[in-house]
Amino acid sequence: LLDVQDLRVEFSGKPVVKGISFHLNRGETFGIIGESGSGKSVTALALSHLLPFNALRSSQVFRFDGADMAHASSAQIDRLRGAGWAMIFQDPSGAFNPVKRVDWHMKQVLDRVALRGRDKRADPVALLQAVGIESAQRVLHSYPFQLSGGMLQRVLIVMVAAMRPKLIIADEPTTNLDKVIENQILDLLADARRRVGATVILITHDLLVAQRHCDRIAVMYEGEFVETGTAAELLGNPRHPYTKALLESSR
Ligand code: ATP
Ligand code: MG
Repeated sequence: LLDVQDLRVEFSGKPVVKGISFHLNRGETFGIIGESGSGKSVTALALSHLLPFNALRSSQVFRFDGADMAHASSAQIDRLRGAGWAMIFQDPSGAFNPVKRVDWHMKQVLDRVALRGRDKRADPVALLQAVGIESAQRVLHSYPFQLSGGMLQRVLIVMVAAMRPKLIIADEPTTNLDKVIENQILDLLADARRRVGATVILITHDLLVAQRHCDRIAVMYEGEFVETGTAAELLGNPRHPYTKALLESSR
């Protein structure tokens, strides 16, 4: 689905992502794990063409779903972003208009899905209840600020899944949430992957989360993928000193 070779990003001459390469198969969940400042978020933004203007990005190969994204026009990128991939950030509130109720947001998404003819118009209440949100009516009639961060994140993932994206990039979607909510959110992502067939890039600094949810994991250190493998490979035979340190610290 995604083929990236030698992706680099620098900010005013300072390299932050230093030539990473990876390949994503359809339907897999690919984890990126690394310490704070290692370049995970910049990588996610670079993949989504969302870098700020002071960033310089380059890559040898950047193919998504058969299209050459390295040289894509902004119209092509917009089209792909509409139908192709979705990003989920640590703080979901950025994705919501603060003066509109949640039902307005759901309606926008479901209208767009219906326009594309992908789905019969789904019922927002049913969508929320299907993922175990009992208070769906109350949630739909709330403004974003009236909901907890965890609830907002769950609603956002439901909306994202309704759009049936090919790729979901989730950048630390559960940081600052308690374990119960974290598991609910990660299960929702896994569910989106199963039902919608979405491919997921899950950025986390929690090795246990990566181990549980990812088919393969890339360990990022100082702007590079220092090793990539299945959880079993990384845990059983860590090669890079940072991976070893990570394992030690999460025992
Ligand atoms: P965390 O786990 O804390 O989220 P991260 O791995 O996501 O960390 P990034 O946010 O990708 O780290 O940042 C990588 C490096 O890029 C950092 O040194 C950061 O200071 C730098 N950086 C990020 N955004 C910018 C920017 N807009 N301008 C200049 N430097 C930036
Ligand atoms: Mg980050």
